[in-house]
Amino acid sequence: MNDILTRTLTTCPYCGVGCGICASETAKGVTVAGDSTHPANFGRLCVKGSALAQTLGDKGRLLVPQLNGENCDWPTAINAVAEGLQQIIAQHGAGAVAMYLSGQLLTEDYYVANKLMKGFIGSPHVDTNSRLCMASTVAGHKRAFGADVVPGCYNDIEQARLFVLVGANMAWNHPVLFGRIQAVIQANDDARLVVIDPRRSASCEAAQLHLKLRPGSDVLLFNGLLSFLAEQGKLDHRFINLHTEGFASALASAQQQASTVELVATGCDLPVEQILQFYRWFTEQPLSLTLFSQGVNQAIDGTDKVNAIINCHLATGRIGKAGSGPFSLTGQPNAMGGREVGGLANQLAAHIDYSDKTQQALVGEFWQAPNLVQQPGFKAVELFDAIERGEVKAVWIVATNPVVSMPQADRIKAALARCPLVIVSDMYQHTDTLAFATIKLPALGWSEKDGTVTNSERCISRQRALLPAPGQAKADWQIICDVARAMGFSQGFNFSSAAQIFAEHAALSGYKNKGQRAFNISALANLSAAQYQQLNPVQWPVTEDRLQGTARLFADGEFFTASGKAQFVAVYQRTLSLPSAATPLLLNSGRLRDQWHTMTRTGRAVSLMQHYSEPFVTLHPADAALYGIAAGDFVQLSNASGQMLVRAEISDSQRSGETFVPMHWSAQFASQARADVLFAAHTDPISGQPALKLSQVALRRM
Ligand code: SF4
Repeated sequence: MNDILTRTLTTCPYCGVGCGICASETAKGVTVAGDSTHPANFGRLCVKGSALAQTLGDKGRLLVPQLNGENCDWPTAINAVAEGLQQIIAQHGAGAVAMYLSGQLLTEDYYVANKLMKGFIGSPHVDTNSRLCMASTVAGHKRAFGADVVPGCYNDIEQARLFVLVGANMAWNHPVLFGRIQAVIQANDDARLVVIDPRRSASCEAAQLHLKLRPGSDVLLFNGLLSFLAEQGKLDHRFINLHTEGFASALASAQQQASTVELVATGCDLPVEQILQFYRWFTEQPLSLTLFSQGVNQAIDGTDKVNAIINCHLATGRIGKAGSGPFSLTGQPNAMGGREVGGLANQLAAHIDYSDKTQQALVGEFWQAPNLVQQPGFKAVELFDAIERGEVKAVWIVATNPVVSMPQADRIKAALARCPLVIVSDMYQHTDTLAFATIKLPALGWSEKDGTVTNSERCISRQRALLPAPGQAKADWQIICDVARAMGFSQGFNFSSAAQIFAEHAALSGYKNKGQRAFNISALANLSAAQYQQLNPVQWPVTEDRLQGTARLFADGEFFTASGKAQFVAVYQRTLSLPSAATPLLLNSGRLRDQWHTMTRTGRAVSLMQHYSEPFVTLHPADAALYGIAAGDFVQLSNASGQMLVRAEISDSQRSGETFVPMHWSAQFASQARADVLFAAHTDPISGQPALKLSQVALRRM
């Protein structure tokens, strides 16, 4: 029997479900189990969370700072970063330096990075890999609700009876939440699951209806639903009249394109009966949750897709009520926390953007900021374009691997290769991005670092350290504060703990906030170090009148817009991309059940490599026959952006003429299998989110 030496409650570092974990240390090492008290998972974990212990250890870690490829001590590295940034700022201005952050960071890390750049250095160019993940939802929420807020909570799952998954393979990507949906379906004869996805994903196995629609036709499908609701007399006119604006124009645009189910069927390439089934179920069942993720967000019209979904919920008054609402599933463990501190280039801090000069001035006053920025910075794709142009001359990349994850990933390589100063903070020694670093800074990772994350239901949870720092690795917030002080900004960065940073972050959220701002956790601003250590999961807003947090928003029909009313948005289905003669197949990308992002952590767990040990492309049998390809053959996918070499998997889970590749593999694991080299850097014009779900490729058997 292994005696437990310590037991630590913490939070999983992978997906946006944000499961609680109980990590036990014994003489033989660390074991993990689900935290039975955590409201996200009540003790359950998926395969990725369960395998966390396998990913621990010093092997492959970056343990010592490096300058130009040579080990150095921390003072040398910190001074090199500070002096390098200062020289570039002196010669080219503050706008020549940038940071590219990550939804893997803790909120405290994010907070000081954002404060340093936007308040003290004076560069607005801070963006994050959350731009690839949730930016369209952020924009859609702001258009509809006046703030970037998820209205509901996970407990709505147990109260809902119709689940509509749009562009979300929850069975693999949000498995523990999906388990809660499956339990509801199994326990209730009237409960149903509808999956809307061009692929037959693992989530379809539990579904009563799968709409295998034409990629990118979601706006048309939901405009059709809005039209159908109106035609059937199933609108909630009282809610629309009392609590919303813009309904007439939203309905007019829906009816213009989607006046009949037949038109929708043609546009979405679906049978009329299937669409009618979905529309009838939605019409009849008020307890309906529409859950959406990257299939909605990662598109050139991702924001419109989000609003097309929200329009249907507003039209039926299905929001702010138990068991109903639109529900954005965040991809990353702290995509939400990054949004809270202003980690996106179009936000300043604490959910304050650049449109309100009074609120902006409050941030400057609170920070006593010498160089408060006044306008948005470059969004992710724009940022790497600016590096390529030579306009941004120094970039500090923290906890992310853009050489693998950004669209046109080969261009990212070229841009970093010519950037005069590339600083990379990471846990690991050999990522594709670290290869371009002038200065490498060893960072703490999960199980070593301490702070907070916010999951998909606005729930703030503690990540707690259970292991000592390996080598000379430091917390990201410490590294950033060290650099800030070395640059002469001692006043705003004298933090000695994550708890102090959290307290300041919480105080800023409430600073002269008379209820105008959605994000408010001011009741947590005076936590002692011991209270911070003990902090239980809590959903924001957390204010003096809501000390226990807020499970569900908008129950009173009051929204965060200037008028207090939710906004319908008139949206139109865009013309869909058609494959060309040179690139005749459509390409989709996504996640696998057992891997996370670019595999830097999950690639270390032996058990997680059993599911898929190598990258692949999925082809429909008709396409395989057309190209003379058998299962297991090596094939080349190519287009103007790049090429990829993988084995073929053949399955009718794909639509004919369409292919799928996993997004995870980097050169570290497979030399020619970076999926994102094949995606052009097309972005949603409102959110700036790249369209990583739709490209066009040529196929060749090797
Ligand atoms: Fe971690 Fe997500 Fe799995 Fe929960 S569902 S254990 S948060 S990866």
